[in-house]
Amino acid sequence: MSVPPMRSGKRFIDVPSGRLEPPFFMPDATFGFVRSVEPDDLVRCGIQAVVMNVFHLMQHPGSSVIRALGGLHSFSGWGLPIVTDSGGFQAYSLIRRDLDLGSITSRGISYRPNSSSRRFLLTPEKSIQLQLSYGSDILVCLDDCTHVSESMHSQRESVERTIEWAERCRTEFTKILQRRKSDGPKPLLYAVVQGGGSRQLRRLCAESLIEIGFDGYAYGGYPLDDRGELLTDMLGYTRELVPDEYPMIALGVGSPSNVAKCLAIGYDMFDSSLPTRDARQGRLYAFDDNLPSADEWGKSGYHYVYIRDEKHIKNKEPISPHCDCPTCSRYKLAYLHHLFKRKDLLYSRLATIHNLRFMKLLIDRLQADVDE
Ligand SMILES: [Zn+2]
Repeated sequence: MSVPPMRSGKRFIDVPSGRLEPPFFMPDATFGFVRSVEPDDLVRCGIQAVVMNVFHLMQHPGSSVIRALGGLHSFSGWGLPIVTDSGGFQAYSLIRRDLDLGSITSRGISYRPNSSSRRFLLTPEKSIQLQLSYGSDILVCLDDCTHVSESMHSQRESVERTIEWAERCRTEFTKILQRRKSDGPKPLLYAVVQGGGSRQLRRLCAESLIEIGFDGYAYGGYPLDDRGELLTDMLGYTRELVPDEYPMIALGVGSPSNVAKCLAIGYDMFDSSLPTRDARQGRLYAFDDNLPSADEWGKSGYHYVYIRDEKHIKNKEPISPHCDCPTCSRYKLAYLHHLFKRKDLLYSRLATIHNLRFMKLLIDRLQADVDE
């Protein structure tokens, strides 16, 4: 399949570990691995990049271990590009829900896990130092994440902090790269646009970040409302604030219907733990027999196969006749149901391979519709 241009017309993103061809989905490899599968499985699914998380990796196994092993590529065996998330979202989800665990100040994020007597301090500068020392291909600035339902006061504070931290990240990133001598592609730095549900704050954040200057941008903040609905209007508005030539990640967007919606409004990169978690928990994705037109994607076009259902006990069909993954090529629903019921580890691997291949095929199909 030919590579479609991004909205910008830019076809590729070149980074030290290779060439990325947007749009694409990135599975979460939070601790340096995508649960239950190995790098070769991911490559077979057509996965171009994974997202690893500095906030978690600096705790387990710890930065000294990763550096001693030569960085994340060497440590994990994954040779293709790595995007590292800085930890803003993790700080939000852990600290904002339990203030005893740490604090977020203009200095940075201070965090002491329940299980540890050690306190971790993640500043914007340290976040960049760690991401570069880990060998990341695309770094993400440390940001102060909020939920859309929080007060205007906290949204404003989050935006001011996100801009200030982004500026500090940019300065540190530039300083370290100037000291490096390399002819090949350099790592890239993306910034996160915050602002909750306020158009005014989203605009302020986007314009300030664009003025500082980054290689790409991301939609920040929890992308769903209290009812679990995608914040489509705000995602669309935020994408419009960022010039077309810049790639943009829809952070945390991973359900097939939400990926379809975000791709239609101009997002190029997606990351979420949902498809792999769904796979392990028995919810598998399958294309409908009749594929919808481009604007109907998300409302229809696919359905879920719940592998625990007893109706699969003698089913000789694959998960999806429209899938070309190694799991569908070889295994019947009856066997996958059996593996799931026996809680065998092989089930998780085969199911994860299938759902990730589905995400790749979904994005290819959606993009093909755009190109027609
Ligand atoms: Zn499959």
